Amino acid sequence: MSCLIIDSKKCVGCGICAKSCSSNALEIKNSKAEVNDNCVLCGVCLDACPFNALSIEKEENSTFDCSEYSDIWVFAEQHKGEVLPVSLELIGKGRELSKEKGCNLSAVLIGSDIRSKAEKLIAYGADKVYICNDSDLEINSDERYTDIFSRMISQYKPEILLLGATGFGRSLAPRIAARAKTGLTADCTFLEIDNETGLLHQTRPAFGGNLMATIICPGHRPQMATVRPGIMPIQNPDYSKEGEIISIEYEDNIDKKIKLIEDILAPEVKTIANAEIIVAVGRGIGSQKNIALAQKLASLLGGNIGVSRPLVDIGWSSQNNQIGQTGSSVSPKLLISCGISGAIQHLAGISGAKNIIAINTDPDAPIFNAAHYKVVGDCVEILKSLISKIEETGSFKKII
Ligand SMILES: Cc1cc2nc3c(=O)[nH]c(=O)nc-3n(C[C@H](O)[C@H](O)[C@H](O)COP(=O)(O)OP(=O)(O)OC[C@H]3O[C@@H](n4cnc5c(N)ncnc54)[C@H](O)[C@@H]3O)c2cc1C
Repeated sequence: MSCLIIDSKKCVGCGICAKSCSSNALEIKNSKAEVNDNCVLCGVCLDACPFNALSIEKEENSTFDCSEYSDIWVFAEQHKGEVLPVSLELIGKGRELSKEKGCNLSAVLIGSDIRSKAEKLIAYGADKVYICNDSDLEINSDERYTDIFSRMISQYKPEILLLGATGFGRSLAPRIAARAKTGLTADCTFLEIDNETGLLHQTRPAFGGNLMATIICPGHRPQMATVRPGIMPIQNPDYSKEGEIISIEYEDNIDKKIKLIEDILAPEVKTIANAEIIVAVGRGIGSQKNIALAQKLASLLGGNIGVSRPLVDIGWSSQNNQIGQTGSSVSPKLLISCGISGAIQHLAGISGAKNIIAINTDPDAPIFNAAHYKVVGDCVEILKSLISKIEETGSFKKII
């Protein structure tokens, strides 16, 4: 590990370094500077010290052999005994990446009574499933799962490890990365393999969403990323597909610091992130009162309303309904997009939608490049006529 070194012969305890440190990582004790765990090795104190008493000792990484690492792994996270959709989404993406790299795709399934789920993961695209099955593992545990992953990484050496950016995934991934002494890109929205280097390009919004940053991890393995749910499509399962199931022994020998007192599940909230039908409106809707038309159509179809960001910015809708890079990623079966231009930040949130019907007056609107069905026309008039047709016929299917 790299670390900050304080030369006690040169340090006079003046405290200039402590004042320069924005992480509160330096304290003066017994007239000498001391560094604590807050240090992020930014190096500001080195420049501040007039006595050259500080230096950073960098770890030499030249011995790390990346070539020993192969295969792509996906953590198959479960909730209430069911594999989460985001894990199936990642298996679909992992399949695509593994084809490009010419390697195997494996899923890692931890829990109790999980064998039948391993077969499901093979059907969804995994070549291998590592299962660690024990009644102690029924409830997601950061400490236990980190320990299992650390041992598995040392033994099997995966090149890439993907996890869902769920509450648990966001807590587990950095612990695994810290143990494996590797990097982690959180909340990715796009993943691809660099054709020349074979490295994983991990893309995520940065600087408050003002730009997209593509991050690589060239010197350590595995290359780790968490991915936001609902961004990548789930591939159709093939139950005739064969794969290997590998059992991992569970060793309960860790010094646990967390004691589970009670497992309380948060009530399920219906959000646009998991809505099956969405009627989304943008600035082309014209006025706040017209949003009621989209709301009406959404309720006739049993769906939710979604909006583009400008409608939130001008106070016409709540941020909970915003779709896109700085809103929710959605993956409905049907998205009816009304008067939305299709800016890149909006498209970032709808790539998981199975069917998109876009209505726009501009035949060249970029939304049409993402849409499956294109309707050039006034969305207000089309919404009105759809509503009256559904009310007349009692069915949306009869209209389309
Ligand atoms: C850092 C950052 C993050 C952002 N995050 C998001 C995000 O999460 N989500 C998001 O949506 N945006 C986001 N944006 C904003 C984004 O760049 C666009 O400005 C926004 O998506 C445009 O919204 P819009 O399509 O509703 O409006 P406009 O771009 O104004 O488009 C209106 C569309 O309606 C059409 N139209 C007009 N009248 C009618 C009519 N009567 N019938 C049918 N069509 C009509 C027009 O032809 C046009 O295509 C972000 C921007 C930045 C800089």
